[in-house]
Amino acid sequence: MNGNLYALLASRFPTDPSAPCLMLPDGSQIGYGAFQAGIGRLAALLRARGVEPGDRVAVQAPKTPESLMLYLATLKVGAVFLPLNTAYTEAEVRYFLDDAEPRLFVTDAVALAAEAAGLAPLEHVHEVAPEALAAIIYTSGTTGRSKGAMLSHGNLAANALALHEVWGFEPGDVLLHALPIFHVHGLFIALHCILLNGGPMIWLAKFDDEEVLRLLPKATVLMGVPTFYTRLLANPGFTHEAAAHMRVFICGSAPLLESTFAEFEARTGQRILERYGMSEAAIITSNPLHGERIPGSVGYPLPGVSLRIGGGAETGVIEIKGPSVFSGYWRMPEKTAEEFTADGWFRTGDVGRQDPDGRVWISGRAKDLIISGGYNVYPKEIELILDELPGVGESAVIGCPHPDFGEAVVAVIAGAGDEAAVIATARQSLAAYKTPKKVFFVDDLPRNAMGKVQKNVLRDRFKGAFGG
Ligand code: AMP
Repeated sequence: MNGNLYALLASRFPTDPSAPCLMLPDGSQIGYGAFQAGIGRLAALLRARGVEPGDRVAVQAPKTPESLMLYLATLKVGAVFLPLNTAYTEAEVRYFLDDAEPRLFVTDAVALAAEAAGLAPLEHVHEVAPEALAAIIYTSGTTGRSKGAMLSHGNLAANALALHEVWGFEPGDVLLHALPIFHVHGLFIALHCILLNGGPMIWLAKFDDEEVLRLLPKATVLMGVPTFYTRLLANPGFTHEAAAHMRVFICGSAPLLESTFAEFEARTGQRILERYGMSEAAIITSNPLHGERIPGSVGYPLPGVSLRIGGGAETGVIEIKGPSVFSGYWRMPEKTAEEFTADGWFRTGDVGRQDPDGRVWISGRAKDLIISGGYNVYPKEIELILDELPGVGESAVIGCPHPDFGEAVVAVIAGAGDEAAVIATARQSLAAYKTPKKVFFVDDLPRNAMGKVQKNVLRDRFKGAFGG
């Protein structure tokens, strides 16, 4: 059997060419027939441009139906898709191009599709083994050089099939797609589920709460980052009625605050389904579709995924094995070897714990761990307490260099308040070494495109908090 992911997806496409695939905000639609023809023509163009199986196709282009078709055309010809964040500067892009040496670098997929318009669609799906490379996803890497996670057709297919199953995709589902497609979440998770379902997606170039509210009545599934949900909640138009018809709201890519989960439930009567994943393994765990979704927990390992806590303590680095785990970092054999244990488990770099029944809880990134006076401090524990205080919208706890303790705990709070009062209240529930030594108030916490708080930016900004 052909291990090409595109062959799997296409095997689920409806036979009726007019069945909707993309529903655009202006009310127009692209049917599955036109979609496949567009992919076929772009595939023919890639071949004409000399793109061979295994060649990289780098794309830094706006989110359009054409850039989506280009992704699938790349798979179809057996080449390797390399999406790049549209926010990257020329200098940043230069690094990726030098590192990945793509055959083609596309910045305008619409122009490319126009160029392909006269070509006969390529019918044949290039045959590949499941181990063949499908995509390279450069990690947002906040320290050191960004690493290219190599994902195979088999990795992506296994994850897509598992998610389609556990999230209960059914005939009639309509996905609201408002995520960027330069990242795993929008490119693989959301997209593959709905394509495997042969169903339609409402295709938004970007998240906009008013647009989402306008189009939500047509959707049954929304996948988003936590920021989507906080923005929807900030909009008074997002009511119980507006959400009532939805089958499921799924969230991930960054931790969902328990307060957001609670506010969402109070407003809509629905519990957000939180899941956990990363570029190197796509989705790893998920709260159940049927069964309890617990705020603060990322749920259970997906079928086929083995998960353990490294280091022998109750809380430690999460290690995983499974069919979706990547094969390594592009041209970085040493880095790859460092991130896998001798017995083949991938060290995720996320710190967490697991209940006896398998449920997983994440307490942060290993590199965000603070060591103060020799004691380990997990920022999440302190953030949970600070987030409950009056006036605190959200908090981020970091370690800053300290002449005496090595590192000391510092809290950065989005909101306004009194430093001494925050410290005094936190001290009531925390040991002295865990209690923030300093508190800074800011308007907003810095975030990346996927809504992750950029602690490296905060560490840099407040590195002089204790002199030096
Ligand atoms: P990326 O490779 O950019 O998708 O980032 C992956 C990282 O995002 C993971 O290693 C986690 O640190 C974080 N992450 C993703 N989903 C969650 C979640 N539901 N809760 C907490 N952290 C998450």
